[in-house]
Amino acid sequence: MSQPAYDVAIVGAGIVGAACADEFARRGMSVAVVEGDLVGGGATAAGMGHIVVMDDSEAQFALTRYSQRLWQELRPELPLEVEYEPCGTIWVAADEEEMAEVQRKRDFYTARGVATEVLGPQALQSLEPNLRPGMSGGLRVLQDVVLYPPCAAAFLINRALKHGAKLHLGQAVTHGGQGRVRTADGAEIGATWVVNAAGAGAADLTPGLGIKKRKGHLVITDRYPGFLNHQLVELGYLKSAHTVSSDSVAFNVQPRRTGQILIGSSRQYRAEHPEVDQLILARMLRRAEEYMPVLARMSAIRAWTGFRAATPDKLPLIGPWPGDRSLLVATGHEGLGITTSLGTARILVDQITGKKPEIPIEPYLPSRIVPEHAHA
Ligand SMILES: Cc1cc2nc3c(=O)[nH]c(=O)nc-3n(C[C@H](O)[C@H](O)[C@H](O)COP(=O)(O)OP(=O)(O)OC[C@H]3O[C@@H](n4cnc5c(N)ncnc54)[C@H](O)[C@@H]3O)c2cc1C
Repeated sequence: MSQPAYDVAIVGAGIVGAACADEFARRGMSVAVVEGDLVGGGATAAGMGHIVVMDDSEAQFALTRYSQRLWQELRPELPLEVEYEPCGTIWVAADEEEMAEVQRKRDFYTARGVATEVLGPQALQSLEPNLRPGMSGGLRVLQDVVLYPPCAAAFLINRALKHGAKLHLGQAVTHGGQGRVRTADGAEIGATWVVNAAGAGAADLTPGLGIKKRKGHLVITDRYPGFLNHQLVELGYLKSAHTVSSDSVAFNVQPRRTGQILIGSSRQYRAEHPEVDQLILARMLRRAEEYMPVLARMSAIRAWTGFRAATPDKLPLIGPWPGDRSLLVATGHEGLGITTSLGTARILVDQITGKKPEIPIEPYLPSRIVPEHAHA
């Protein structure tokens, strides 16, 4: 048998594939990236770029916290166009029930070393004067960050290229596994490892991944400098974002460096078409205006959609795919793939190189969704 041409062939140059390419290449492995479209053009271009620590489960916390730390370490190297802004998050409590959630969240974060500040109604109003008066308060999470995902993906790919990686753009992959990637024009690239980082398209290449597309809408406004100071997310988001079957909207706004406001967000299952859905968009904007009435007088310049790759247990799939010794999976990041891309790449490459990962990897192993292989 001839030697494979590369150590690693990565399918997909979204933020996850880009982070993997960067990590493998910087550890001295030869890397080919094969992308059907553009660098950072999939969900990565559609996402909000909120680098956020989350507490839905211990495993989610571990990966988001670890990844956020990796973004912080990378900050000095990030070019200006990545628009890294350590603006922090405020989880907004509309009523006393949500204030109880503020306390629970604060306790969870404090116990794990995450800096937070509980805000009463006045403190919230003075930090974000454009919120509707009468909110109960909120939780400010100081280390959360906002960045511009497509440029972050481009930065990671460019760094991989500087370390010798090769990039094949506009090449749709029809097969990835058994030590090779085959493209629609019939070309083959041999590699010791194949990484499926095809985002919401990953299940087309690896049947059995169990990934469902979860459609999201975002709107961006014209420039209104100083209007918003933090990423603001309603605490009701926790109730709505985690329903796994019905459509939902939640107040989620982000200040961009340009002075624009990015307004989200929605979640829809069984919505496969990328077109903007006017009904869900109107619902999403109404929700935003309930929290920030002034938004109704602002001019919105563009709306778009994207597809999150959702797994049944809300955790990503990172690691070897049972049944194919060459195949690695790095997908299923749902609404957190910008945040967790760096941690994903780090723990994936650790698994291959035999380095001890800095966080326990078991919750993310793909073998958990293929029971007959779980103990193989
Ligand atoms: C509305 C919305 C808001 C979001 N907000 C946030 C946020 O604030 N913070 C956060 O952390 N995350 C957020 N996310 C989630 C985040 O955008 C995704 O988790 C992340 O971009 C996934 O990256 P990826 O590289 O896995 O997938 P993608 O960016 O989709 O990249 C996959 C790539 O694979 C390519 N591909 C697919 N199939 C093939 C094939 N057969 N051959 C070749 N190439 C192929 C695609 O063209 C694409 O470029 C949001 C998502 C949405 C939709």
